[in-house]
Amino acid sequence: KNFQSVALVVGVTGIVGYSLAEILPLSDTPGGPWKVYGVARRPRPSWSLDHPVEYIQCDVLSADDTQAKLSPLTDITHIFWVTWANRPSEAECIEVNDAMFLNVLNAVVPNAPNLTHICLQTGHKHYIGPFEAFGKIKPHETPFVEDVPRLPAPNFYYTLEDILFETCKKKQGLTWSVHRAAVIFGFSPYSMMNLVGTICVYAAICKHEKVPFKFPGTKAAWNCFSVASDADLIAEHQIWAAVDPYAKNEAFNCSNGDLFKWRQLWKVLAEEFELEYVDFDESEKFVSLTERMKDKGAVWDEIVKKNQLTPTKLEEVTTCWFADVIFSGECMLDSMNKSKEHGFLGFRNTTKSLISVIDKMRAHKIVP
Ligand code: NAD
Repeated sequence: KNFQSVALVVGVTGIVGYSLAEILPLSDTPGGPWKVYGVARRPRPSWSLDHPVEYIQCDVLSADDTQAKLSPLTDITHIFWVTWANRPSEAECIEVNDAMFLNVLNAVVPNAPNLTHICLQTGHKHYIGPFEAFGKIKPHETPFVEDVPRLPAPNFYYTLEDILFETCKKKQGLTWSVHRAAVIFGFSPYSMMNLVGTICVYAAICKHEKVPFKFPGTKAAWNCFSVASDADLIAEHQIWAAVDPYAKNEAFNCSNGDLFKWRQLWKVLAEEFELEYVDFDESEKFVSLTERMKDKGAVWDEIVKKNQLTPTKLEEVTTCWFADVIFSGECMLDSMNKSKEHGFLGFRNTTKSLISVIDKMRAHKIVP
């Protein structure tokens, strides 16, 4: 088959990597027909077998493994950077994320003569600072817009951008785009931050234990306006930037284009899992999701067995610390004006996005 474009998706089993693996190979995807190489650290999971992707198991934190596996891929035309590594401090995050990115660039850029574009996915922490700086530095005002100065705090998003800019400056014809997502709604039991997956598991446990499905967050997070980013929409946004000349060498926010409140989505979740909707009760003491889910490993094992789900461990399918961050934040809105002005008119209805993610998780038997 004659391919017009060849993608290297780094983090193909992640929350957006999964969507890229699903969308890139479709016959009507812009820039296609696409050949897709997908990189991830672990062996290929059962739920990614349907994607027509050349799966490459590679630890991009290892320079040797990355050289060995990626330098022979001389036909790559586009890199989609949809991975990251978490560490206890931002200094360590900078060190490992930079190393991962440089390992891949050092293996691909000198060996792939037709490489034309690199998409880098980051997020709202560009505007509010890294997790360790929350409450310590003044975030940018919402709605976030792209062209504000960087915050005075170390941030691996900034160092990745700098590596990207330097790399593209050095190679003629190589362009870049940065995609700053809000909280992502997507399928992937391997994601290091999957909010919808986490709350679905929480809902299943509430149902199994016959306890009320309470919102494990603050009143402000329950009532304020929020925005989210559908993983398929982010994939479409990255593919748009990869092929459209008006999107080159720009950073863009990337969210659904509508607003929601958690109090409204909680009703949708209650309905989906056939649970009673419980309103926020101010008189109750705050209990985080991490606290609520502590010691529920055996309960999840029982739910998996009873419903004949794909075998998973609670700590694999939940990222409660991330839900705790989101459910204590407030009013993290962004603007999609710049994307629209540059020609990207894609959007998602967040309620429908939530339901479609739940449907996918059920189809792969991840949640009951
Ligand atoms: P993810 O955690 O869903 O997926 C990570 C992927 O990278 C997986 O496929 C994993 O196997 C792979 N991976 C991890 N370490 C690897 C290694 N050493 N070698 C090879 N593969 C490796 O990723 P994500 O959430 O899409 O994160 C990408 C970026 O998006 C990050 O900067 C993140 O902060 C940002 N972001 C995420 C969210 C969210 O809700 N998940 C929201 C906003 C911004």
